[in-house]
Amino acid sequence: MEAVTLVANAGWDRRILVCRCGTLVDTWIVVTERFVVLVDTMDGPESAAALLDLARPHLSGRQLLVVNTHAHWDHVWGNQVFAGPQALHPAPIIATRACAAQLASGEAATTLAEMQGKDPAGFAAVRLTPPTVLFDGALRIEGGDLTLELLPAPGHADDQVVVWIPEIATLLAADAVELPFPFAESATALPVIRATLTTLAALDAGTALYCHAPETAGPDLIQANLAYFQTLEERCRAALAADATADPPADADVEALVGFPFAELRPLGQAVTQPEFYRPGHRQHIRLMLRWLAGG
Ligand SMILES: [Zn+2]
Repeated sequence: MEAVTLVANAGWDRRILVCRCGTLVDTWIVVTERFVVLVDTMDGPESAAALLDLARPHLSGRQLLVVNTHAHWDHVWGNQVFAGPQALHPAPIIATRACAAQLASGEAATTLAEMQGKDPAGFAAVRLTPPTVLFDGALRIEGGDLTLELLPAPGHADDQVVVWIPEIATLLAADAVELPFPFAESATALPVIRATLTTLAALDAGTALYCHAPETAGPDLIQANLAYFQTLEERCRAALAADATADPPADADVEALVGFPFAELRPLGQAVTQPEFYRPGHRQHIRLMLRWLAGG
């Protein structure tokens, strides 16, 4: 496990704590009058226990609630700290019904087995623990001074929600927005991911925080993500119009094929910090966009 640290406040409301697990993920603790809300539980029980330690000074007189934004492993594998036989601090874990179904699926178990095979020390202790309070659509948590509106944000994952806090115009965007882009897992997810970005942009957030982007990126990153998918569509459309194949062979240089090199991606003027992760993602997006434009 990478160390979990508190990120120095760079100007956002002081009731929001930004928690960082190394280079893996940022999550949040929101301290309201009634509740302390942990948004996501990171990658395992050790990380989640560290989150609990960060929350503990605020728990006097407040109920702990846990929210899962979506079922990807770096967001929910610490759930066992809050539910089940090993829970250090039992608390309701709130998520969409789809998130719960994902975590109970064979796919989640396969992912865990694969990760345990690759890194036994890192993941041996993880027990998949589904959320316990389930909803469809949207949900409001009335914290007293702050309201947490859990809003559907599909595309990157069908089960995903983001957290909008209207009193302070603050968006906790989970993986709906990333630097340089959020990941689409299928061709049909492309329009969904863009519709979600448009919805989030319309919130006109004063502060936006992300699980996979610097805490200083700000709300402009939402428009930058929209621009990325717009450019992706334009370049792929032009390539298809010039008779490029919609189904390039596995060894094809698809960046060259559509004229959209990864090196061109500098959202907000920032270099991409994990190219080993995002470059394959960009290439995959090109293939998905070609397929989507070609109608298949
Ligand atoms: Zn994710």
